[in-house]
Amino acid sequence: MNAGLQTWLSDQLQSLRDQNLYKVPKILESPAGGRVQMNGKEVVNLSSNNYLGLANHPKVRAAALAAIEKWGVGAGAVRWIGGTMAVHDELEQRLAKFKHTEAVLVFTGGFTANSGCIPAVLTKQDVVISDELNHASIIDGVRLAPAAYKKSEGWVYAHKDMDALETCLKAANEKGFAKKMIITDGVFSMDGDIAPLPEIVALAEQYDAFVMVDDAHASGVLGQNGAGTASHFGLYGRVDIQLGTLSKALGVIGGYIAGSSLLKDWLINRGRPYLFSTAHPPMVAAALIAALDVMETDPEPMARLWANTRWWKKALQENGFDTMGSETPITPVYVGEERAAQAMEKALWDEGVYALAIVYPTVGLGKARIRTMPSAAHTQEDLEFALEAFKRVRDRMA
Ligand SMILES: *Cc1c(COP(=O)(O)O)cnc(C)c1O
Repeated sequence: MNAGLQTWLSDQLQSLRDQNLYKVPKILESPAGGRVQMNGKEVVNLSSNNYLGLANHPKVRAAALAAIEKWGVGAGAVRWIGGTMAVHDELEQRLAKFKHTEAVLVFTGGFTANSGCIPAVLTKQDVVISDELNHASIIDGVRLAPAAYKKSEGWVYAHKDMDALETCLKAANEKGFAKKMIITDGVFSMDGDIAPLPEIVALAEQYDAFVMVDDAHASGVLGQNGAGTASHFGLYGRVDIQLGTLSKALGVIGGYIAGSSLLKDWLINRGRPYLFSTAHPPMVAAALIAALDVMETDPEPMARLWANTRWWKKALQENGFDTMGSETPITPVYVGEERAAQAMEKALWDEGVYALAIVYPTVGLGKARIRTMPSAAHTQEDLEFALEAFKRVRDRMA
């Protein structure tokens, strides 16, 4: 072991502990669900993105098991080298229909889809214009691109501020960039609000820019059968690049880029995580096809997700909690001070509710919150139990 490295690691970790930012993942001892066994304790889990309860759905499980029997457990190689299994191809065709786009390319994760797609479609003659609250995987994907993108150069606009976006677009035209990309979360992962996509698309059309939307938290949540923000706003054919995740509402793992056939062809040839990383196990693709079957034929999980979401938000608000600007299942409960949010997380855990404190630097300083996510997997009793815990903890901490 190199002593310099070990000392550096130990110092860095101590610094995280000193700042109260040191993470220790809890151990989940049961399948994903509304009520889970975690660290030896039964808790209501409000921190999962298993929005539709598909992660442990009987039809999805059965499809994965059948695929293991048929295909084995591994894809064996990168798809263009080892061959694309028919089941991977079928998943992409199903997703393209679901998204109303010409084509879809699947990556092993949503994070990877961002780092695969963003740098592939940009050159150093181009500019990327970003919402300031975009997800970390967008930010990292943008950093890999040779284009102009920096906040210090004026290419990051204030959250959902359309005047600020227009200012960026005007500046980009004056500088004469070859291509201009606007990139935004569809649903913002820490605040649960929705990007003003119709306005963004209209500005893009006006200023000859193209739009990429990261629909990780909109997949399975917004639009027809959960097809995402373009569907929600009736913008089929007007969003150039849509990213979806297969890891959250769809309950398995993966990410995809939906768009034109030319885009797919280009990413097959220039998307580095596609070119140099092995495909999903075939059971993943089969499980995802089954998850899509459920989403397209059974409206009940999505209806329950939204019924639970409406009940939960209203109950919190009626009891004096501030759910910020949330419009989706992602429901922040505003606390403000970092230490107070972390103390609240601990107190909720003691009450049998698992909900994480989100603090600086993930969100702005002094904007700490407890992030909650009701899902189709929660029963009414689970949510009532959680609400009572929130009230008791608040009263105790007041
Ligand atoms: C979770 C998330 C991702 C990453 O998706 P994975 O499939 O989990 O890798 C990308 N973008 C946003 C906005 C996310 O919330």
